[in-house]
This record gives sequence, structure tokens and C-alpha cells, in this order.
Amino acid sequence: MIDLHCHLDLYPDPAEMVRLVTERGIYVLSVTTTPRAFPVMKRMIKGSPRIRLGLGLHPELVAQRHSEVDFFPALLGETAYVGEVGIDGSPANRASVPLQERTFRRILKHCSDRGGRILSIHSRGAAGRVIDCLAETPGAGTPVLHWFSGSAKELERAVALGAWFSVGPAMTRSERGRFLVAGMPRDRVLTETDGPFARDGNTPFNPWDVTRAETALAELWGIAPDRVRHVLSANLRQLSETSDGALRKPA
Ligand code: MN
Repeated sequence: MIDLHCHLDLYPDPAEMVRLVTERGIYVLSVTTTPRAFPVMKRMIKGSPRIRLGLGLHPELVAQRHSEVDFFPALLGETAYVGEVGIDGSPANRASVPLQERTFRRILKHCSDRGGRILSIHSRGAAGRVIDCLAETPGAGTPVLHWFSGSAKELERAVALGAWFSVGPAMTRSERGRFLVAGMPRDRVLTETDGPFARDGNTPFNPWDVTRAETALAELWGIAPDRVRHVLSANLRQLSETSDGALRKPA
């Protein structure tokens, strides 16, 4: 199982969550919402080689914490992964979009200066802007658009740019989400949960709930679930080869 975008540090008991995903052998990219969380989590995942940690600054926190982008150069040397970063254009965050965009550009530049990273990117209500920024900074690395919800046209642009996609159970619930997933190149799709933010009713998804996304992918692709896992493992191996010392290769 692969959860390429979740927030282990935001579950009620992060240490217990680390223990559970380690025990189950799940490949996890745990993204952070602020650089300050990075060193704390780094200590917690020591001894869990299948968990990777993203250095992030969540777009919804940028209005308050944009100055923390200054931590990126010092911390980028410690990880091949950046996230959660991006731009949020939904009504509650629209006022800070110009600042979010400047901050995202600075992060991309830092990544580019360090030879590129794998980036888990938020683009709700701002897919076009995010794609513009990525197009301007091709050296930033390999973008993985998480929970992509742009238009069909924007999806096309993202694909042309070489973007990858992480798809979760929340996304495959809606017809529109499934339509977008169907348009993604099968060799650039990975699973995610976005737990504990994303939930089923009142229950936050756990990383092992990626099985629900696997089931949805099996239906969309018209192949057996075990075949889906095979595709996803091959994809993860391919993605990790785009960076030095990234996620350990699945067996
Ligand atoms: Mn998230």
C-alpha cells in the first residue's frame, strides 16, 4: 500500500500512527504544513524506512506564516520531498492568493537551486496558477498534484508538463473526480488519503484506507485490484528514481 499524501503529525497520536503504518509496511509520504513540524516528525519516523517526510508550508497557513519559507534552504538538504505546498484559491483563502503565489514561487526556486525535489502540491481553486508557476520553474523537480480538482483543460496542461497525480478515496467518490482520474496517465498515478483532513463522514481516513482508492482505480482502469497494486508499485519505483535517496523501492 502507498499513501503518498497524508499528515501523520496531525492525527491525535502521531507516534501511534507511525507505529501502525510501520507495522503494516505501508509506504507513506507524510507531508507537513509548516517547516517547524519537520524536525519534530523527522525524529519520530526514525527507524521507519518506508515513511518519508515532506518539508511543507500549507497554502492555507501562508497568510500567517509566509516568513517560514526562510527555513527551506536549511532544511531542503534533509529530504527529497517537499509538501504540502501550493496555492488555495477557495473563498476563505482568496485574499491571500497573491502572497501564496509569491511564496510558492520562492519554494520552487529553492527546490530548483537544490537540484529539484518531489513536490506534493495543493491546487484547490488555483490549478491554473499552480501550473503557470510550475511551467516557469521546470528545475523545481517532479510535481505530484494531490487531489487534483481543476478543469479537463488544466489537467491536460499538467499532464503535458510531466506532472504526476495522487488520488484518494475522497476524490474517487465524486463523478467529476473519477472523470479527472480517467484522464490521468496510468503510469503517473499514485494513491493517497490526505488523512486526517479527508474523512468518511466524521471518521478521518487512515493511511490503510488507500485500499478504497485502489478499488476505485481497478474499476476505472478495468483491471483486477492486485494488478492495480502492481502498477502503483512500479509507479512509485519510477517516481523515486527521479530523485536521490527517495522512497525505498517496493519489493
Ligand atoms: Mn493535505
